[in-house]
Amino acid sequence: LSEKLDKALHVLKGHGSITEVNVAETLKEVRRALLDADVNFKIAKEFTNRVKEKALGQDVLTSLQPGQLMVKLVKDELTELMGGDAEGINLSGNPSVILMSGLQGSGKTTFSGKLANYLKNKKTKKPLLVACDVYRPAAIDQLHVVGDQLNIDVYSDKGNNDPVAIAQAGIAHAKQNGHNVVIIDTAGRLAVDKAMMDEISNIHKAIQPQETLFVVDSMTGQDAVITAKAFNDILNFDGVILTKLDGDTRGGAAISIKSVVNKPIKFIGTGEKMEAIDVFYPSRMADRILGMGDVVSLVERAQEQYDEEEARKIQKKIAKNQFGFDDFLKQIQQIKKMGNMKDLIGMIPGAGKMMKDVDIDDDAFKGIEAIIHSMTPDERSNPAVINASRKKRIGKGSGTSVQEVNQLLKQFNQMSKMMKMMQGGKGKAMMQAMKG
Ligand code: GDP
Ligand code: MG
Repeated sequence: LSEKLDKALHVLKGHGSITEVNVAETLKEVRRALLDADVNFKIAKEFTNRVKEKALGQDVLTSLQPGQLMVKLVKDELTELMGGDAEGINLSGNPSVILMSGLQGSGKTTFSGKLANYLKNKKTKKPLLVACDVYRPAAIDQLHVVGDQLNIDVYSDKGNNDPVAIAQAGIAHAKQNGHNVVIIDTAGRLAVDKAMMDEISNIHKAIQPQETLFVVDSMTGQDAVITAKAFNDILNFDGVILTKLDGDTRGGAAISIKSVVNKPIKFIGTGEKMEAIDVFYPSRMADRILGMGDVVSLVERAQEQYDEEEARKIQKKIAKNQFGFDDFLKQIQQIKKMGNMKDLIGMIPGAGKMMKDVDIDDDAFKGIEAIIHSMTPDERSNPAVINASRKKRIGKGSGTSVQEVNQLLKQFNQMSKMMKMMQGGKGKAMMQAMKG
């Protein structure tokens, strides 16, 4: 989607002058791009018509920067279409009960974990996960794995095949154990059918959750709209969770679902890891669709993951010239915690396009990590002692070559120097270094 829109808007961005034909052409391209992203035909048409009206109303043709104005109009309209300000989750109950709904494979179990972790990080929340997918023993285990990984309690009852009873018992368990949030993970099926709808509807009636969320795989395209409508008819849910919005997934589902069920999209899932959760901001999503990059999200996520204490410690070490490979390893782990490298890079404006053909993933760090792991503690804290024979040993131990070890040492030295300069003389020294 973004590529097509990019092309369409490119015509306008650079141009000082613009004609009515130009506007029509551009909007035709915008509409095509939306259709390509599986946005409903009617919605796409209404969208471009609205933009056209606004463009003419604001006299795009005689404005100083018609291209800029068009981009703004398209962006604003896209933002409006996807919803207003970000809406949170209703946590007014004690405990607050959150019910997950959606098809099998949409990402309910994964998102249950992500949300529990997200709320747990808010300090005042002590979530409990409840496993109500009674059809596959593996589904219960999956939730336990997630809970263990996050250090979050999970309530399940393997002998019981009544999801309503389990949900109720889970809530009772939460009350007894001081949990103030209960997240109920449910079973889904591959397609909408009566049995599934009856089941989720029964759970919903019995527990009357504060918040019912509909989880949908953003890659399902047009079908997402049909499923969303079916679930909304039964549950009148409170919000939508758009999962698998990573890599180059098209954002079309966001646009259509919002228009059809008129419920806010609350969160997005952007990867398989538990940290890959973001609040949904319509304007950022519009930016992303338009290829402007989701910088604000990137910065926010980086901030959340980066432990300030750790940062201060590292700064001190740099100042004292004590920054070693152990610290370097920690930094790599910080970066990895932020999520998939490709997703992160995709959020930087312009970089998405640049890096399209480059395959970057967490493996990029594997060699580096292996080399550092093969170093002795002494070598890590004082890399200067690494001589030729040590390099040979490290290469062997890590399954890399001496060249690779050399390269890492060289990079590390450069980085240390750079960091030292940024700490001390700041900009001035940097500039001098760059001038050589
Ligand atoms: P459920 O059947 O609705 O409970 O779905 P699961 O939570 O088991 O997820 C199904 C698959 O989708 C699993 O392999 C997840 O790892 C994967 N998945 C879930 N959310 C995301 C996401 O945001 N991005 C990606 N890339 N994969 C996801
Ligand atoms: Mg599941």
